[in-house]
Amino acid sequence: MTSLGLGRSRMVWFAVALVVAAVAVPVVLSLLLAREQARVDQARRASIYASDVLRRSDDAGDQIGAAFRRLAATPDVASCGPAVHAVLQGIDVGSSYIQLIGLVRGDAIYCSSYGLHDPPIALGPVDYVSATRARVRQNVQLDFAAPQRFIVIDNGRFAAVVHKSLPVDSTVVEPGVSLAVASVSTGRVLATRGRFDRAWMHDAAALAPGAHRTFNVRGRTIAQYRSRNYDVMAIASLDAGNYNGALIRMARVLVPIGLALGLVLAYTTHHLARQQMSAAAAIRSGLVRNEFHVVYQPIVRLSDRRWVGAEVLLRWRRPDGSLVRPDLFIPVAEEAGLISAITERVIELVEPTLAQLAAREDGFFLSINFSPQDMHREGTLDLLRELLRRTGVQPKQVHVEVTERAFANTLSARDMVRRMRDLGLLVAIDDFGTGYSSLAELTTFELDALKIDKAFVDTVGSDAVTSHVAFHIVEMARGLSLGMVAEGVEQEGQAAILLSWRVPFGQGWLFSRPLPADELLARLPGVVDVDTSAMAS
Ligand code: C2E
Ligand code: CA
Ligand code: CA
Repeated sequence: MTSLGLGRSRMVWFAVALVVAAVAVPVVLSLLLAREQARVDQARRASIYASDVLRRSDDAGDQIGAAFRRLAATPDVASCGPAVHAVLQGIDVGSSYIQLIGLVRGDAIYCSSYGLHDPPIALGPVDYVSATRARVRQNVQLDFAAPQRFIVIDNGRFAAVVHKSLPVDSTVVEPGVSLAVASVSTGRVLATRGRFDRAWMHDAAALAPGAHRTFNVRGRTIAQYRSRNYDVMAIASLDAGNYNGALIRMARVLVPIGLALGLVLAYTTHHLARQQMSAAAAIRSGLVRNEFHVVYQPIVRLSDRRWVGAEVLLRWRRPDGSLVRPDLFIPVAEEAGLISAITERVIELVEPTLAQLAAREDGFFLSINFSPQDMHREGTLDLLRELLRRTGVQPKQVHVEVTERAFANTLSARDMVRRMRDLGLLVAIDDFGTGYSSLAELTTFELDALKIDKAFVDTVGSDAVTSHVAFHIVEMARGLSLGMVAEGVEQEGQAAILLSWRVPFGQGWLFSRPLPADELLARLPGVVDVDTSAMAS
């Protein structure tokens, strides 16, 4: 039964929401994070590929430029003499990208590192002239090197033959990566590795020389790197494979964890719900089997310790003999809609005692606790009216204790308080100071008394800051002409200070523990008239 306090349906719903949140939030967040991470990672890798391709392409361009300058500086180069031949061989051997270098006339190479060509090697027509005035043939097949394809670049005097796949020959290991080199000004593709889509060239001319960018096209990540010196751009395109792979790997870890967590929480929720249900069922059967009784804790006049009334406290003895604290079962009953049945039972239980008190002329009262729901229910008034009628007690001998919580729904509670007082009952606010209501708010209710919560009484006489709060509550209650009962007085020192603060009444173990009815009645003094009708001092 110890979990009764937690076992409310509100807690169950809270737990359900918690389950959903606990499973969904981390999984979704991690997946989003993983996706973003994968996206950034994908763009980074595309950039690495494209910049590598550009570096190779630029290196090839540099080597060709250097070779052409060297040839231009070679004396009598057009003769293709032994000295020229040696220079050509030196260039071939010394440059990693140039397969063959030669001298051109028209569309043919007539002299190369291999010597004089007769007939000359026909190159076919120029495909395009680049923005840097290089004459480019994209797809040249040489008889002695078939079936390979070459790019031939010439400046009208010299020609360099470059292997078509060289610039895009990065050490690509992953599948789904495409590489390309293209002319920016013409949009012509010089070399590709993997499939190529013109959309990857998107807006190429808008990119400044030396600049680069990444973007997405149909789920692929594209990186464009434009050469600073040449009319080319390197492009790398990565498919979504790795990207999704990262997500799938992540999900494979997270989803089972989320599910496991969810299962644990769902089980807990279920467990709580069952306990909640069984607790409510136990209260119901407790009502049927008369497991409830009430005890009475005297309320004393602090000036002379005379017993002026008693608070009615409910007790539940389970069939196994254990006593369940009202702190535990009252909240469950409130939540399970059983509180009206409980309140009804309490009223039934006090009836005989109240009938015995009716004869007394000192106005000895019983103070009954009501739950917030009781304050919003018409039946409560009928119960009280019936109680007065059947016992013949003076209405002022019945006090009603309501906690601050009841005043959350102010309108109907205010109305109920007024009608109870119209019956002649006295109404006290219970546990004052533990809720959220302010005294200012309280002035709008016509209350008779205020019960100063034990939490404040505990601080009385101590150095705690809250002891000032206790004093202020007393001062303000007096300002509002409210009667006062200090609850949970355990020490003589507290009683003395409370008395010096002119708190009229007290209740607590110092004066008496809660007593069974017969004991209470037996210990009541002879009838001496004490006026508690206003509960003020
Ligand atoms: P409450 O209305 O504040 O009742 C005072 C509680 O303080 C009682 O606990 C009482 O036994 C305890 N008490 C009295 N003097 C002292 C003291 O000097 N020291 C200490 N440590 N405690 C003291 P109890 O009987 O366990 O009741 C707990 C709460 O259960 C009550 O607090 C009240 O809110 C609720 N309750 C009890 N009976 C009923 C009832 O018939 N109907 C409703 N709706 N609620 C009830
Ligand atoms: Ca009370
Ligand atoms: Ca109280």
